[in-house]
Amino acid sequence: QAAQNGQSTVHFFDPQTQENASARALLERNIKAGLAMSEFVLYYQPQVEKSNFIGAEVLLRWRHGEVFVSPDKFISTAEQSNLILPLGNWVLHQACKQLAQWAERSETAHLTLSVNISPKQFKHAQFVDTVVQAIANTGAPARQLIIELTESMLFEDIDSAIARISALRAHGVGFSLDDFGMGYSSLSDLQRLPLTELKIDRSFIRDIQHNAHDARMVRSIISLGHSMGLQVIAEGVETQAQIDYLIDSGCMRWQGYFIGKPQPIAHLEQLMQEHITFSFRGSQP
Ligand code: C2E
Ligand code: MG
Ligand code: MG
Ligand code: MG
Repeated sequence: QAAQNGQSTVHFFDPQTQENASARALLERNIKAGLAMSEFVLYYQPQVEKSNFIGAEVLLRWRHGEVFVSPDKFISTAEQSNLILPLGNWVLHQACKQLAQWAERSETAHLTLSVNISPKQFKHAQFVDTVVQAIANTGAPARQLIIELTESMLFEDIDSAIARISALRAHGVGFSLDDFGMGYSSLSDLQRLPLTELKIDRSFIRDIQHNAHDARMVRSIISLGHSMGLQVIAEGVETQAQIDYLIDSGCMRWQGYFIGKPQPIAHLEQLMQEHITFSFRGSQP
């Protein structure tokens, strides 16, 4: 009956309730059933380089009954229960299918998709094989796939992280360090990682105009990234003033509500269609 009533469904995902083991077990069962019943959908948030669309970030949504559940409400439970493995695999396959479809048309062949990968997926012994298989099974162009990782999952065991990333870089897959600036990366470790992109965390962008510390931080991250030969992209861009500051600081790539919210694929394609110029994302370093 929860599915018929948005209110009580939402209640299941209250983080406080999640502390409760039986509530978590229920959420786990719901995620499993949701996978079987195709309740998960991918939303796509456009990414631009100045005024050109270069690709999108893939963001998972769960249509559970009447409500759209956001990833913050279920990813950590999926992660704790290992359900993130089938769920994450599904996300990867869907994204690769989309890339294969885009590759068929010259207007969309340059577009990239960025996929978020959780710590458990990344550390799994089959991680590299899983990605290689998703690419092979779908015929996706590996160069258009970007995997988003976060700092915390890289530095625990940096040697094995380097090995995993390198193995997939050899296929052409790109790697972005998501939410950059929030973790504790040492610069020497950071240099060892064969990444292709830094993504500046939304929290630094938010008050860029009013907070001199954040503004300096953003500028430092941009120069750091560029000095390492990486692409730099900002997330959470909501205003023209933020864009002006980014351009002035040398960062030409961003995503955020100002350009477009995460949206169904048909909406994204329409948005891009309405836009005349398509740009080439540029070869990954
Ligand atoms: P993230 O990867 O850092 O994704 C960016 C989040 O910021 C998204 O939240 C997006 O909707 C939101 N966002 C984008 N632009 C703006 C903006 O201009 N303003 C504001 N206020 N927010 C903006 P979302 O979709 O709720 O995802 C939350 C987190 O859940 C993601 O953070 C990511 O860590 C995780 N996640 C999402 N999809 C997946 C997935 O398929 N697999 C895994 N493992 N994690 C995922
Ligand atoms: Mg992300
Ligand atoms: Mg992010
Ligand atoms: Mg973030």
